[in-house]
This record gives sequence, C-alpha cells and structure tokens, in this order.
Amino acid sequence: MRYISTRGGAAPTRLSDAIAAGIAPDGGLYVPEKMPRVPLPPANGYLAGTALRMLEPFFEGDPLEDDLPTICAEAFAHPAPRRELRIDGAHVLELFHGPTAAFKDFGARFLAACLTRLRRDSDRPLTILVATSGDTGAAVGAAFHNLPGVRVAILYPDNRVSPRQAHQLGSFGGNVRALRVEGGFDDCQRLVKGALGDSALQGDVPMSSANSISLGRLLPQMAYFGHASLNADGPMNVIVPTGNLGNAVACLWAREIGLPIGDVLFACNANDTLPEFFGGQPYRGRDAVPTIANAMDVGAPSNFERLRHLFGSEDNARRNGHAESVDDAEIRDVIRRHSDSDGEIFCPHTATAIRVFERRRHAGDTRTWTVAATAHPAKFDTVVEPLIGRTVAVPEALGAMLAREATAEPLAADGRMFADWLRGW
Ligand SMILES: *Cc1c(COP(=O)(O)O)cnc(C)c1O
Repeated sequence: MRYISTRGGAAPTRLSDAIAAGIAPDGGLYVPEKMPRVPLPPANGYLAGTALRMLEPFFEGDPLEDDLPTICAEAFAHPAPRRELRIDGAHVLELFHGPTAAFKDFGARFLAACLTRLRRDSDRPLTILVATSGDTGAAVGAAFHNLPGVRVAILYPDNRVSPRQAHQLGSFGGNVRALRVEGGFDDCQRLVKGALGDSALQGDVPMSSANSISLGRLLPQMAYFGHASLNADGPMNVIVPTGNLGNAVACLWAREIGLPIGDVLFACNANDTLPEFFGGQPYRGRDAVPTIANAMDVGAPSNFERLRHLFGSEDNARRNGHAESVDDAEIRDVIRRHSDSDGEIFCPHTATAIRVFERRRHAGDTRTWTVAATAHPAKFDTVVEPLIGRTVAVPEALGAMLAREATAEPLAADGRMFADWLRGW
C-alpha cells in the first residue's frame, strides 16, 4: 500500500515515511492510494485483534509490517466498550479508558509504538513537538513517556487550559517536558510550525510532530468503530463529537473498508464551519470561538481535506455526511438533565452528541444510534460538577497522574528563544 497527498503534488510514499513526515511535502494530507476492502474480523475477539485485521492491508509492504501485531497490542491495551444507555435506542462507545481518559490515547499510543520502532537504529533522539489546548498534549506525553529514542516538548497556552489539564501536562518529567507559553493556542502552533520548518534547527535537533493529521494517529482510530460495529445488530449508526474531524474521518474510513457502519453524524459545538458546509454553503474556515467543549474549538478542521478526498467532491461529501451545531446552553442542559433523570454523567463533548441524538428522536427517527463518548467527565470537573451538584469520581489512571508533582517551564512566544531552548535540551 502506498500513500498520496490530498493535493496530488507529492510522489506516492510508504506508510513509514508518511508517518515520519506528518504532512506531505506539497502541504496536503497523506491518504491511502486506494482504500482496501478487508474481510470481516470475528465479532467476539479482542479489540487489538480487530485492529490488526483492519490495519494489515494498510501496512502491506511496509518496514513496520512485521511489527504490526505488537504495535496493536501496545496501542490497544485498554478496552473500548459499547454500552446501552437507559435512554431509549442509544448506546455509548466509551473511548476514555486509557491513561489520560480521552480517545486520543489510542492514536497517540499507536503513533508512539510506530515512531520508536522507526527510530531504533538512530543514535540521536527524535524530539516530538506538540502544541495543545489540553487533551492532545496529555495523550502524547503519556504515550511517549519513558520510551527510548524519543522525547516530547508540550507547548500549551499559559492560563488557558483547565487546572487539571495543566497539572496533567506537567506531570510527566523525564523525556517529556511542558512549556507554558505566554500567549494563546495559535502562538503555540506557530512556534511548533516554525521550529519544524527551520532546516538548520532540524539539522541540530531532529524533530517531528504528533498532531491529529498524522496517519499514525488517524489509522488506528478506525479500529474501535469497527470493533463496536461487529457487535451491533445491523449497521451501526454513529454520532461523533467533532473538532478537527480526525475521529469522524476514521469512522468513515472504517465504513469504507467494509465494516458494518451505517449513518455517521458529526456533532459540533458552536464552531459551525462543518454544519454550514453540510447545510449547502461553500466551505469557509475561520477562527475558533471558545466553548465549554473546548477540545472541539476548531474553526478550520484540519482533516476536511481528507473528507473531500474520500468522497471525490463537495456535493458527494454532503450526500454522505451530516453535521449539527450544539451551543453551550444545550450542552449544559444535557449534562444536568441526564444526571438527574438517569444518572448518566457526560463530558461536555459527549453531551453535544447526545443532544444531536435527542434531536433525531424528536424528529421521529426510531433507529438505534451509538454515541462516541470521547472523554471521561472527571477531566472536565470544573464544567460538569457545578451542573450536577456532586463530584465525579476520578478514574484510577487519571488520579495517579494528578497525584504526581507537576512542573512547567515558562516560554515567551518567540521562535528564537524556542530554538535556543531546543538546542539546549
Ligand atoms: C480531540 C477531542 C474531540 C474532537 O476530535 P477530532 O478528532 O478533533 O474531531 C472530541 N472530544 C474530545 C474529548 C477530544 O479530546
């Protein structure tokens, strides 16, 4: 299997090279040259086994092909159970049982397992740069912590992530260091892009990124959707809380390669770039507005190019997908109401998708839907607890992380100072 750019201006490349590069040389995103069809994996197996069956064709002929079984075992070491809710016709797919309690643990751990193997013969460490507004940095830090041959610099906007998120980001130590940047998320992203594009700096400090456009994060995300669909009765209709479209595109890819997935809806917060597009207007990326579902505060979803590429045209994409926007008041209402009526506690991101499900029901849709639960509510305690009037029990792994000491180093939003810091590490 070879990989091409969504923009068509890069030579077809091997998966390992696409994973190491992150972005294609023409600025596009890597996609498989041709989507394979996979034979259906058995319904009652383990998640890691389903992942292996689904991912094998994507690794065909690649230097990592023989490592794929152990890569899957490492990345899919925690479960992703699908559970029926006490809400008629709704299931949740719980993607938050990993070390940092959000779905990004799966992709980050898979990418880490791939990159450490790709670097096993090099004498200098690879430095992974990650700009984060919260969840991504924690998942990447946890996934790479204490692995040989790699180290991670996490950049986050000082005072703009929740206290619990900041604590998580600074809790690793060792080969993972946290930098609190004087500025916003865009400043963090600019510093990372500037460093990655600086060839002199690359010569001194080999660097790579771990953002959501990496194939090493996107491909494995197909697995839990596929695994859950094998155990649903009939094609599984899915609602995905959506920001950068990484999780949703992975779900569509799983359907494309033959897994029994039915309709896929994208649940967005007040950032309505996608709802507007699916409503028939031209695609128009813009700045994000802040919401209480902050991991989805995205105004220009980076995986949109992959969505358009998958369907061949914007009109065809509109025929095959649907996106809806949910505002903060509705998110709060969902969290409060379900805690009272059926005892379910949702994180703000999952709550957007629950709201989209409820709208379907009111519109007379009687089908069963599966909502992707993307994070544990304890990660967003400052939003959730005041709404439900009680504390949310913290999962064990998250609790262990929060019990550790945390430190972050201050950094001015200045490219030259960041380069000096990297050279001095
Ligand atoms: C990242 C994230 C999302 C959005 O996922 P995308 O792949 O960016 O669309 C949703 N919920 C949570 C909890 C997240 O951390």
